[in-house]
Amino acid sequence: MTSGDLAELDRRYIWHPFTQQQGWLSEDAPIIRSAKGTNLFDVEGRGYIDGVSSLWCNVHGHQHPKIDRAVRDQLGRVSHTTMLGLSHEPAIRLAERLVEIAPERLTRVFYSDSGSTATEIALKIAFQHFQQSGQPERTRFLSMRDAYHGDTIGAVSAGGIDLFHATYGPLLFETLKTTPGDVAELERHFEQHGNELAAVIMEPLVQGAAGMILHPNGYLRKVRQLCDKHGVLLILDEVATGFGRTGTMFACQQEAVEPDIMCVAKGITGGYLPLAATLTSEIIYSSFLGDHTEQKTFFHGHTYTGNPLACAAGIATLEIFEQEQTLDHVADLCVLILKLLEPIAELPRVKEVRRRGLMVGIELDGFPVEARAGHQVTLAARRRGAIIRPLGDTIVLMPPLAISADELRRLVDITGESIAEVSADAASKEEPRVRRAKVKI
Ligand SMILES: *Cc1c(COP(=O)(O)O)cnc(C)c1O
Repeated sequence: MTSGDLAELDRRYIWHPFTQQQGWLSEDAPIIRSAKGTNLFDVEGRGYIDGVSSLWCNVHGHQHPKIDRAVRDQLGRVSHTTMLGLSHEPAIRLAERLVEIAPERLTRVFYSDSGSTATEIALKIAFQHFQQSGQPERTRFLSMRDAYHGDTIGAVSAGGIDLFHATYGPLLFETLKTTPGDVAELERHFEQHGNELAAVIMEPLVQGAAGMILHPNGYLRKVRQLCDKHGVLLILDEVATGFGRTGTMFACQQEAVEPDIMCVAKGITGGYLPLAATLTSEIIYSSFLGDHTEQKTFFHGHTYTGNPLACAAGIATLEIFEQEQTLDHVADLCVLILKLLEPIAELPRVKEVRRRGLMVGIELDGFPVEARAGHQVTLAARRRGAIIRPLGDTIVLMPPLAISADELRRLVDITGESIAEVSADAASKEEPRVRRAKVKI
């Protein structure tokens, strides 16, 4: 089938996620046929750097021989078998590995298949835990403004991105919202509501979908302290930050904070297959134990929970972290990217560059909303051979951790050139303006 035929069929049949289909029709998005390492190739043979890790999940590159082999080997045994009433070796072995690398307090693994389900499960577990632990008044959740925990209704209730979430207001349960980084507000919430809170749910260190919003150092630890003081659980959503993305295996390790519940997904299979896990402490797990008649069972489970192919990919992904010393490689890349981003921060239309590990947000400045500057930058980058995807007017760079120094340099160069191109286009169309002072990291 020619690329034109495929594009035509796509337009006729597919409704793309987070996409205004009306604009999509004229856009000619690449149709990807294959990928190797950190590059994607479309049906016309053009190559692109995978600058956002196929939506933040690729870790060791595409077609990694070890993950490919693990999935193929598993295909030769069984592709799917349920975890309701049965078990299987890949799920068992992956759970053991996850508990080994997770913060010590986390001892149990509940599988599902996406980041959204991982956070839904965390919320339901925290709620049910208190219902059956003699504190049924603990029914509420505290979450961060501009948080993102997924797109299902519970996850959206804990979220705070108006553009994505406001429409569904009438469908959501109410959560308390606090401004990330504001310790005084946080303390106020705990003083007023500490005894009715079941849990705080948050993305540790970086709020990704909010536009790579960085929390001040020590904020996470402060949340942990207040949770301890008031007997509130801490749920950390490490769906984006987990598996080396911020430089340590999990972001919370940078502040030596242990959550009671931790959600992981995206990078868990190296970006190969849908899989997620919600890890809990032994105390929480134990509160679900009881005679059948007590009805303490956690009545939750998805058809593809703990899929064997995905678990096999997960085991291989974790092994590669050791074999290829991925975290050391990330540490080197962090030194490099800091330098590479300097000239970008100096571009006139860049307001701020935010980064933690290999999570980067470049916020553009002074474009009218209708200019869709972030989107224009991604189109310009695509013409130069890189796939990136913005969050509004914040350009996101989140390459696979395995990216080489040379390729990282090329990705950042392309990004800088694309921002400059879009800025020049805009400048040629508008009145000269007075520049505001910049905030930069
Ligand atoms: C992507 C993301 C989710 C949702 O994961 P899906 O697999 O897309 O459902 C949840 N939390 C965070 C922090 C994320 O970045």
